[in-house]
Amino acid sequence: MIDFKHVTKVYEPKITALKDVSVHIDKGEFVFVLGHSGAGKSTFLKLMLREEKATKGEVIVNGYNLSKIKERDIPYMRRTLGVVFQDFRLIPNLTAYENIAFAMRVTNIDEKEIKRRVPYILNLVGLAGKRDKLPAQLSGGEQQRVALARALVHNPDLVIADEPTGNIDPQLSLEIMELLKAINSTGTTVLVVTHEHELARRYARRVIEMRHGVIVNDTTVGRAGVR
Ligand code: ADP
Repeated sequence: MIDFKHVTKVYEPKITALKDVSVHIDKGEFVFVLGHSGAGKSTFLKLMLREEKATKGEVIVNGYNLSKIKERDIPYMRRTLGVVFQDFRLIPNLTAYENIAFAMRVTNIDEKEIKRRVPYILNLVGLAGKRDKLPAQLSGGEQQRVALARALVHNPDLVIADEPTGNIDPQLSLEIMELLKAINSTGTTVLVVTHEHELARRYARRVIEMRHGVIVNDTTVGRAGVR
């Protein structure tokens, strides 16, 4: 599912953001990637999305070897994962429905399928009643749910949430975590990137902790120590 094999990432001129990182995440896992600012979390994420390339080592995501992938295959690889960005990245002049439909249209999914799937996904995230609202007419938590719905359009094998509790209040972060748990219970791998220890402790089955570009801990609840 996700395999990092001895991955090093050096940003020019000389900043080593990841140092010889090896980690494997299986299908169906619920994983937290935890670390302070500067630990290398975003770099880890960018390598998985192939927004950055590893300086050394191999990154394999959903069967794609990202060190060898052809440019034209990158969009296909990205469809196997859904990302909820911290700043949501919704299109401000499109309604909740249209934001999700747009994500499907750009990948050439036909209108019939869009009409079938968008209401289903909106319902899944509890936003059926808000389908015609613009992002500015939605609360932070609701915007995040639109972003989550959009991440689910391609029925991805893996959902990544980048600092999902960063822009919303504690009650809403509880809700979003419950949604992620529900998504995980259908067999989808969920990876949550966060700097919040408390969040990881509360929900995690597995916590991968990064510090200064290395994994310092990889713990599954009920099992201590580095895997
Ligand atoms: P985190 O997401 O955990 O805060 P990052 O992956 O963003 O960590 O950063 C890891 C290290 O790499 C930091 O020292 C950061 O300053 C550096 N870094 C990140 N992106 C770049 C970049 N594009 N160019 C140079 N240095 C970078």
